[in-house]
Amino acid sequence: MPDGQVLDSKPAGRPVRRAEPGLVKAIDIIGMDRADAPGYRYRMVSPTDFQASLPELAAWRRDIHAHPETAFEEVRTGDLVAAKLASWGIDVHRGLAKTGVVGTLRAGSGTRAIGLRADMDALNMQELNDFAHRSTIAGKMHACGHDGHTTMLLAAARHLARHRGFDGAVHFIFQPAEENEGGGRVMVQEGLFERFPCDAVYGMHNMPGIPVGRMAVQAGPALASSDSWEVVMRGRGTHGAKPHLGTDATVAAANFILALQTIVSRSVDPLESAAVSLGSIAAGVPETWNVIPAEVRLRGTARAFRPEIRDLLEASIGRVADGAARAHGCRADYRYIRRNPPVVNTKANAEIAARAAARALGAENVLHDFPPSTAGEDFSFMLEKVPGAYVWVGIGPGEEGCLHHNPRYDFNDGALPVGAAFWVSLVETELPARG
Ligand SMILES: [Zn+2]
Ligand SMILES: [Zn+2]
Repeated sequence: MPDGQVLDSKPAGRPVRRAEPGLVKAIDIIGMDRADAPGYRYRMVSPTDFQASLPELAAWRRDIHAHPETAFEEVRTGDLVAAKLASWGIDVHRGLAKTGVVGTLRAGSGTRAIGLRADMDALNMQELNDFAHRSTIAGKMHACGHDGHTTMLLAAARHLARHRGFDGAVHFIFQPAEENEGGGRVMVQEGLFERFPCDAVYGMHNMPGIPVGRMAVQAGPALASSDSWEVVMRGRGTHGAKPHLGTDATVAAANFILALQTIVSRSVDPLESAAVSLGSIAAGVPETWNVIPAEVRLRGTARAFRPEIRDLLEASIGRVADGAARAHGCRADYRYIRRNPPVVNTKANAEIAARAAARALGAENVLHDFPPSTAGEDFSFMLEKVPGAYVWVGIGPGEEGCLHHNPRYDFNDGALPVGAAFWVSLVETELPARG
């Protein structure tokens, strides 16, 4: 998730830091999806199918964690992903969004295809952990769990390549640069879905606060739009002792900041959600005491869950800035930078994802009322092209050091079997094998 968002995390049930076997149970379903095959006994995949290989999966994850790479520089990670996929007989394509990797696996004669997406990038942060697999690169760190996301999708790819319990095509999409640079957008712009047509696309992110063994899936908005804005208040600088000889941009800026607070409270429908926040303000130089600065630069962020509210925020911030400027004889230059649209899950695909999660984990371990997050995600660019859903996988309580973008964050390896099993179950639910 981009923009250094610290997510709200609400512990669901008893806190679990590491995998709790009681929550991860195997389900044997006889004949599901393949009832027409006489004598065929089909066992749905579950996290226990990945328990034996957990030490190996954890080693992959920790290796990626120790070698974090940021936006469009995921060369080592991409090499590692591509080599593993190829070794399992999966077709590999490289080069979309520079370091993106897409693996394609086909089984049976079905013509449907789905995309499963994992992000590979790290953050420009200094890790404060001191365990053996801590970052080996100064100023870079996997503090959002994308090392875990990459590993879970690899584990699922290997399982699917070995068992091929589906009918159709699966595209494993490993994308770069999720955090800030919009690697997902670039992959879409460079023809991801023209080259790899998909009937549905799914994304998954880890979530502290949801116990290991559980997932959250909901229809509708999952993540907010994430945009940036800048206002430059321009006045006429003058001597601090002679304010009447200039126009004071700082007073206009102060009025703008206060009026900004009325956008969500007065302009947005009370039944909707939005956030408008100031992130930085710059005026004058700290060394001076008696100079009224000529301009004030203000930057901030805006979040919404619906395109209409996003449009309203863009227009309102500009209107308020212009009004505050005019009231004080100044001028406001305004820029609104659209970054990520909201992530909105299609109802039908959210239901498929929930069914797949219930099959793998047990219905009691699928949360349907997890609140949307005001963080942003460039998976939204994929959902603008192809219907799908974005789901959360639990990694334990959101205690200090466990939250995303925290310098002590570490993905909980106990969740690797859960996410891997979900991916496999999703493929078998979306592309059921024929008798
Ligand atoms: Zn993040
Ligand atoms: Zn993330």
